[in-house]
Amino acid sequence: MTALPFGATLGIVGGGQLGRMSAMAAARLGFRVHVLTPDIDSPACEVASSATIGDYDDEVALRDFAEHVDVVTFEFENVSAHGLRILESIKPVRPAGAVLEISQDRIAEKRRLSEIGAALAPWREVPDAAALAAAAEALDYRLILKTTRFGYDGKGQFRIRDAEEFAALGTDLPYPLVAEGIVDFEREISVMVARGLDGDVRCFDVTENRHRNGILDLSLAPAPIPPALAAQAQSMARHIAESLDLIGIMGVEMFVDARGGLLINEIAPRPHNSGHWTMNACLVDQFEMHVRAVLGLPLPEATRHSDAVMKNLIGPDDMALCDAALRMPGLALHLYGKDEARPGRKMGHVNAIFPRGALPGPFGIAAVLGPLVEPVVSEDI
Ligand code: ADP
Ligand code: MG
Repeated sequence: MTALPFGATLGIVGGGQLGRMSAMAAARLGFRVHVLTPDIDSPACEVASSATIGDYDDEVALRDFAEHVDVVTFEFENVSAHGLRILESIKPVRPAGAVLEISQDRIAEKRRLSEIGAALAPWREVPDAAALAAAAEALDYRLILKTTRFGYDGKGQFRIRDAEEFAALGTDLPYPLVAEGIVDFEREISVMVARGLDGDVRCFDVTENRHRNGILDLSLAPAPIPPALAAQAQSMARHIAESLDLIGIMGVEMFVDARGGLLINEIAPRPHNSGHWTMNACLVDQFEMHVRAVLGLPLPEATRHSDAVMKNLIGPDDMALCDAALRMPGLALHLYGKDEARPGRKMGHVNAIFPRGALPGPFGIAAVLGPLVEPVVSEDI
């Protein structure tokens, strides 16, 4: 297994911001990038060398894309099994299609994670209306129903807090679903773990993630948790990466439960929003780490030189604050080049960095991020 030569072409399936930032990292290392996307006006196309414009399940487009590249990776996970086989028959695909297929389906994902010894929130399969009542009863009417496929940013989820809410929901739902017991978590954390072609593994420091309206809002690095718990989170992420034979980077989302135990929420075998802080707080960020792994290059240490806070810029309200962000000291602004700032759409993010060990508390963060975190900071942080 050898590294691809500088100047080779990395193929990225997907045209979003994760593809854009991966393409920029590949270009910085002297590689060309070819994107597969249905939309030429996509964030990744703006920074790539070339693109195949077509649907992710269009056989002709998939073949054209694969013929133009030396290795394939993803920023978009939901390529069909048939599409993955086509890509794999033409070029190396990293991570492998089998890893994507696990992450595409919440039930396959939970089964696999359980098999390899990861602790999960209690869950039940809900293939149809008949299974729904039994699942709700088993989970004491405190549950989240999630579509098994295509969910992101909290979409495709129904939260039920008691029997009354359950009755009000009805049974006309987009099956198949998975039902999960609601975790009363102390905090949400994630680990970005990368594994190279030679099996080397690197974990970035554990991140704490705070969501608003089901969408990631803030990430704090390092997560303010005991070192032993951070080490446990990283070793679990490593174990999952090794068990899946991952090549590339993966985000592992976890809950710290009320007793300080770790539960795995979900995995995403690609760069992840909760790793964006690495762009300004690490010498080599998650995108370069991913690209290096996929291209077969050596993985550097995932060392964090600074503490960091990442704030997502979502929809038109946050976009209106970009001018202010450009004038604020200590902030790096990253925009994804999307034309239309629809509500709930991820438009960019800002990173604020601090000397190691000097991650401020809520009021310090509010002072640095200023208008970007008002007016929720006093109650949400
Ligand atoms: P998505 O694919 O949309 O990211 P997740 O399963 O990560 O779906 O759910 C989104 C968010 O919803 C999580 O980050 C967490 O805040 C909350 N959530 C999901 N599952 C649970 C659960 N079982 N208990 C409590 N909160 C949950
Ligand atoms: Mg998630």
